[in-house]
Amino acid sequence: MKTLAKKDLKGVVKAWAEKYHVLAPSRMAKGDCIFDTFQEESFSLDYKKPPLFPKAVFLPHTEVVFEVKDNKLHEVISARNTILFGIRSCDMMGLLQSTSFMTRDRDDIFYSTKKERATIIVMACPGPQNETCFCTTTFSGPVAKKGFDLMFFDMGNDFIIETGSHRGKELLSSGPFTDMDNKLAGEKIKTFKEKAIRDIPVVDEVYEAMRRLKDGAADQKVWEHFGRKCIVCGGCAFVCPTCTCFNVYDQESAPGNGVRARAWDACLYGGFTREASGHNPRPNQASRLKRRHEHKLLYYNESDIQDSLCGCVGCGRCSDYCPVHIGTLEVAREIVKE
Ligand code: SF4
Ligand code: SF4
Repeated sequence: MKTLAKKDLKGVVKAWAEKYHVLAPSRMAKGDCIFDTFQEESFSLDYKKPPLFPKAVFLPHTEVVFEVKDNKLHEVISARNTILFGIRSCDMMGLLQSTSFMTRDRDDIFYSTKKERATIIVMACPGPQNETCFCTTTFSGPVAKKGFDLMFFDMGNDFIIETGSHRGKELLSSGPFTDMDNKLAGEKIKTFKEKAIRDIPVVDEVYEAMRRLKDGAADQKVWEHFGRKCIVCGGCAFVCPTCTCFNVYDQESAPGNGVRARAWDACLYGGFTREASGHNPRPNQASRLKRRHEHKLLYYNESDIQDSLCGCVGCGRCSDYCPVHIGTLEVAREIVKE
């Protein structure tokens, strides 16, 4: 394995930014930390759980998929060589789920072209990033198991770097990296992981809620209770790393000219399942919330999600951002309480 002195990190990322579009944690003027195009002055390692990342890189909120100019159609596929530096392990697992969904039955070229040109560097979590993290419950953290090109472990004054792909190895082929004995590095990583796992609590209610949903034993009152509270903002879907639904629309700018675009959609919206006849198989907010949470805790594709467990990677963002507290944690706890 390799190591890198922390004092050298900024220089390394700066050198990568000369060849790649590097997205890295960046501190904004008002103090928030988000993932943004690398800039030396705003680059920061003092970040927790950025609200929208990395799904938005490959499936942007709004994206033109083709344009029509004078009645002639031109496909628009935009992608460039990108490095995503420092994503969290839960987001890595979320990205694997999103990629599986977007390529499983039919390759979504607008997504996969961007994904293929991305190098992904995970920053393993030394502990919970806030009180809603539950990646140890969903087996999606604190350390990524697969999918990454490089994974950094913060050891204080330096990083130990695990390589996950040939592309990752190439990135380490020049720069101030030093070799480290694999056995010693493995022992240090083991200690790091054990501490992180001890510090991130397992939420038993999530397992119990999964069991009740599987047995059809979740009380309908839970969905009615949350259905009355939900203000239908769609925020829970927009911040979720495993939500990938989008809507498609056409915009005409002049006769024979315009674009077809797609934009994020959310299953919490009434129009999401409304059919052309006007019939809606999910006719109220309670049924829509039930569907969303069953997708997170009940239905899953056995071959591609973290150890076949569930469709939620335990990032806790829905609990962080729902203005009326209808995150997965709150829903699981209510299912168990009822
Ligand atoms: S359902 Fe909530 S906790 Fe689970 S992955 Fe989505 S945003 Fe994160
Ligand atoms: S974030 Fe909360 S209020 Fe908004 S749609 Fe989701 S559950 Fe409803």
